[in-house]
Amino acid sequence: MRVKFIDLPRRFADETLRARVTAVFEHGQFVLGAELTHFEARFAKVSGARYALGLNSGTDALFLALKALRIGAGDEVVTAPNSFVATAGAIVMTGARPVFVDVDAEYLMDVRQLAAAITPRTRAIMPVHLTGNVVDVDAIAAIAAPRGIAVIEDAAQAVGAALRGRTVGSLGDAAAFSLFPLKNLGVAGDGGMLTTDREDVRARVALLRHHGLRTRDECAEFAYNSRLDTLHAVVGDVLLDDLDPITDKRIAHARFYDDALAGLEPELIVPPRRRDVKQVFHTYVVQVADRPGLETYLAEQGIETKIHYPIPIHLQPAAASLGYRRGDFPVTESQSERILSLPVHEYLEPAQLEWVADRVRSFYRR
Ligand SMILES: *Cc1c(COP(=O)(O)O)cnc(C)c1O
Repeated sequence: MRVKFIDLPRRFADETLRARVTAVFEHGQFVLGAELTHFEARFAKVSGARYALGLNSGTDALFLALKALRIGAGDEVVTAPNSFVATAGAIVMTGARPVFVDVDAEYLMDVRQLAAAITPRTRAIMPVHLTGNVVDVDAIAAIAAPRGIAVIEDAAQAVGAALRGRTVGSLGDAAAFSLFPLKNLGVAGDGGMLTTDREDVRARVALLRHHGLRTRDECAEFAYNSRLDTLHAVVGDVLLDDLDPITDKRIAHARFYDDALAGLEPELIVPPRRRDVKQVFHTYVVQVADRPGLETYLAEQGIETKIHYPIPIHLQPAAASLGYRRGDFPVTESQSERILSLPVHEYLEPAQLEWVADRVRSFYRR
């Protein structure tokens, strides 16, 4: 039996989707078409924010959120070292300096260590809702707000997730979502979405993503070209209809693994759960003993796994000039050697889930 990590062709095999895409080719409004505005309005509702703006990528959503808040050279932005590299990359691209805080057992920024990372230069905190779990943004806001520090959610992996009933995307000053095909809500290429309740942030990102053009001919400031294409907006709009069932499936699959893999500690630890969070399981990350052995064994059984992410950001060659060393973030570093993401996508069949759990159990019984 083969178990793929994700099944994109299946996700895009949709008649409605093909028809809506064809309609764009027929009307020809490929950039800033009406479909984009429509998708943005629906996405704003999903994220619980007042505004949503479609962008080229999740990375650009992080970058333009920082730019909209006028963060750049000389500033510091506090974030987590266990994310995808784009989180820190977006900070560095503004000229600001990423400052890392270690994570907790849930793979999320350890808020207890946050205050110690703040300096007079800190302008923003960028918590990452990694795996589709949610950072306690309320606890972060309690530290940030009195100091006039902004909070930007990296919600790239967490569309539809919620903290105490409030959806990610509306918990800080701005939030960045990725519509990369592999994400829970993806388009047919690169895409991203920025959400915010702040009219000043919305207005500035709208300007920055569109060459700084205030009207067709008048340029208020030189800026970027980072609009979500109309074709991607219709794809996102069609797939948004399925977001709830997709999320429900992923949650159900995670529950299945939780039960089926219980009792394997300390060789295998399932993802911790918090009662006040709706986790959407972009990834289902276990911590395991003998990861290379398990990976190889599962691959031999036709089961695809991945590692999110094997090299912490502060240990990347790109981060050399930031001055961090191995040992600076012990939790992140130890997790990076033990984590493994099991397939949790929405099209898994019960027999496939059983097979994955059965093979994992059999590996540790040997
Ligand atoms: C995917 C991802 C990004 C980047 O999004 P892109 O759309 O690929 O630019 C940023 N942060 C995290 C946590 C991600 O998973």
